[in-house]
Amino acid sequence: MGSWTDNIKDIEPYVPGEQSAEKGIIKLNANENPYPPSPMVKKALRELDFDSLRLYPDANAAKLKDAIAAFYGVERENVFVGNGSDDVLALAFQAFFNGEKPVLFPDITYSFYPVWCRLFGIPFKTVPVGGDFRICADDYAKENGGVVIPNPNAPTSLGEGAEFVESILRKNQGGVVIIDEAYVDFGGFSSAGLTQKYENLLVTATFSKSRSLAGMRLGYAIGSKKLTGALEAVKNSYNSYTVNSAAMAAGAAAMRDTAYFNETVQKIIATRLKTKAALEELGFEVLDSQTNFLMATHPEKNMREYFEFLKAQKIFIRYFDKPVINKFVRITVGTDDEMNALLLKTREFLEIK
Ligand code: PMP
Repeated sequence: MGSWTDNIKDIEPYVPGEQSAEKGIIKLNANENPYPPSPMVKKALRELDFDSLRLYPDANAAKLKDAIAAFYGVERENVFVGNGSDDVLALAFQAFFNGEKPVLFPDITYSFYPVWCRLFGIPFKTVPVGGDFRICADDYAKENGGVVIPNPNAPTSLGEGAEFVESILRKNQGGVVIIDEAYVDFGGFSSAGLTQKYENLLVTATFSKSRSLAGMRLGYAIGSKKLTGALEAVKNSYNSYTVNSAAMAAGAAAMRDTAYFNETVQKIIATRLKTKAALEELGFEVLDSQTNFLMATHPEKNMREYFEFLKAQKIFIRYFDKPVINKFVRITVGTDDEMNALLLKTREFLEIK
């Protein structure tokens, strides 16, 4: 009989972008939003009834779900919320990916998926993306125990449209299809509306990127009542209070302030386009991002060296030491000033005057 140490020895945890308390760092390594949350979030937190913190939060998170439901034009029962979309995804893996057949996801994708599969003992198979990093819907026609795809994908930054998602859904009517929309607000196609048509489609999303609330840990899913009901059952078998009272108030306020949301997202898209063009001018090849980050490579330069050069200059970007993507760096879109500082140091790295 194996001991408990045998059971945990294979767990390989997910490695998030480095956080640093050092002053003066330009942090472009975790796809965080460079702008603060909506002023309405500050107001909601100021007005939070301090004494109410002695009580447990609403386990059903009704007010937060209502704000999300209003934004998407669905009912409260079509919404599930959690402690970041990582929590929502982890619960969804446990709820829906529990068969013998392998779950399918792209080989270049969010690196938390294989980590959860290993932790929960879920069989999985990765599906290679094309040479252009695009995901081919036809590759998901084989037998499987479920499908999970980020759209837009990370770290490639590439998004696909309605036909792609519907094609995957048509081929996968038996299992659950999860579309992870962590980055969709920066110009991608949202499948949230398709959840009305496909009972087996779960769309997950986050407050961490487009709503500037990574520190609050808030994520959600949109899906049929059948799927959200299963998620509630799994959550309530593990931790009924994954979302605290302050996070609920903050999230509802952020969701309602659509003007601020649109303004912030538009600013980031504008900076992304400018930065992409400037990097291309410097000889980089940059994928056509629909996210708040850029996946870039330079035909003549070593990207690990570029990453390390910038790090020494207190500019943090992300480098993945993995096959294929080790030729790239992932750069989060910050403010115009932050990107100008990055471009200045990039010229230094390239020895361009
Ligand atoms: N999905 C993808 C594709 C991501 O890149 C991230 C961010 N690391 C998440 C989900 C999780 O984000 P959060 O837990 O902050 O909602």
